[in-house]
Amino acid sequence: MNTHVPKIGIVSLGCPKALVDSERIITSLRAEGYELSPEYAGADAVIVNTCGFLDSAKAESLDAIGEAMRENGRVIVTGCMGVDEAAIRANHPGVLAVTGPHQYEQVVEAVHAHAPPPPEPFTQLVPEAGLKLTPRHYAYLKISEGCNHSCSFCIIPSMRGKLASRPAAKVLYEAERLVQAGVQELLVISQDTSAYGVDIRHQATPWHGEPVKAHIFDLAEALGRLGVWVRLHYVYPYPHVDRLIPLMADEKILPYIDIPFQHASPTVLKAMRRPAHQERTLDRIADWRRQAPDLTIRSTFIVGFPGETEEDFRYLLDWLEEAELDRVGCFKFEPVAGAAANDLPGAVPDEIKEERWHRFMTAQAAVSERRMKRKIGWEIDVLIDEADEDGAIGRSKSDAPEIDGCVFLNGETGLQPGDMVRAEVVEADHYDLWARLA
Ligand code: SF4
Repeated sequence: MNTHVPKIGIVSLGCPKALVDSERIITSLRAEGYELSPEYAGADAVIVNTCGFLDSAKAESLDAIGEAMRENGRVIVTGCMGVDEAAIRANHPGVLAVTGPHQYEQVVEAVHAHAPPPPEPFTQLVPEAGLKLTPRHYAYLKISEGCNHSCSFCIIPSMRGKLASRPAAKVLYEAERLVQAGVQELLVISQDTSAYGVDIRHQATPWHGEPVKAHIFDLAEALGRLGVWVRLHYVYPYPHVDRLIPLMADEKILPYIDIPFQHASPTVLKAMRRPAHQERTLDRIADWRRQAPDLTIRSTFIVGFPGETEEDFRYLLDWLEEAELDRVGCFKFEPVAGAAANDLPGAVPDEIKEERWHRFMTAQAAVSERRMKRKIGWEIDVLIDEADEDGAIGRSKSDAPEIDGCVFLNGETGLQPGDMVRAEVVEADHYDLWARLA
């Protein structure tokens, strides 16, 4: 009898949404008795979950496929770049299979075809909450797939399709299982979190016998009852987002909101075809801060978008100064193959993009530092991510994992990842905090 237990390696690139896809794939495979291989050597096949959002991400994906081909040679490609099978096969003709984003079944079928499952699946090996690639104390919770917008720089809707929301009860039961498995922080993700449920007419589904509407307010309110940190990502400032702020002020969910503004100039936003770009944003931010003074606002921006003039750019810098956002990322515009923005007139030369990027980062660093320095002397909650004999590193309510800063607890020993502690902030720069146990 064949007793070989096949081992599968997985390389997960790209955004947290892709990470959730990877987790689903490995959960299915483990349920069928496959083992996971942390290295290329000895793996019967390697899955590379790619990102294809920007050309630089595509290049990184092709490099990762190349490395897996060299080190192992039996490679199954999935994820966003999978929609461009021709480009993958042109660079790596030997890959075993190529599937697109969100195609768990096809990936699992490809694995079956090239590394058949063991004869007796031992399903008991899968913990009830599924397998996660993130540390045990935080987990991403995907509430929907796809997007109904058509931002001119983005090809996600053509790759991932229209908005498809999960029923609220499904999301909540998954969240509850994660919390029972030890997760202390749930990171709500999607392409457009504020639009959650629009496609299913906000239909209610029963969670412990109580109907919960597929609406971001109802979902956030219900998630807030689980007693863990709930952090919202990719929220567009539609008017109903204002209803979330009292939940944040009351700490039912974290006072943290991640809104990808991308620009401030009305002309550029129009050319970008951004959702909710006419929503009096500065007034609303001021109002949100009045209601929830501890609110952390994170955002990303693109500089050097086609047609962006020096005047547009200065408008953005003035807006940033007034908005006083806490956490900001900035990208130089990169044409993505297939995006409508590529045909817009007024391409900005690379050296001007570079120069604007530096001006933007310098301006925002000063704002971020002001926002951070005011925390010196505050007592805050810190969720520990890493700990060793020299101290511990954690995050405050203002810091999402991977993308925001850290809280360094130098010299504080005896802590464990997943611990929640109170600490007093003793130092800050524009990005991180230093604190000691309170
Ligand atoms: S909202 Fe715009 S940027 Fe975000 S996924 Fe949809 S089309 Fe892309």
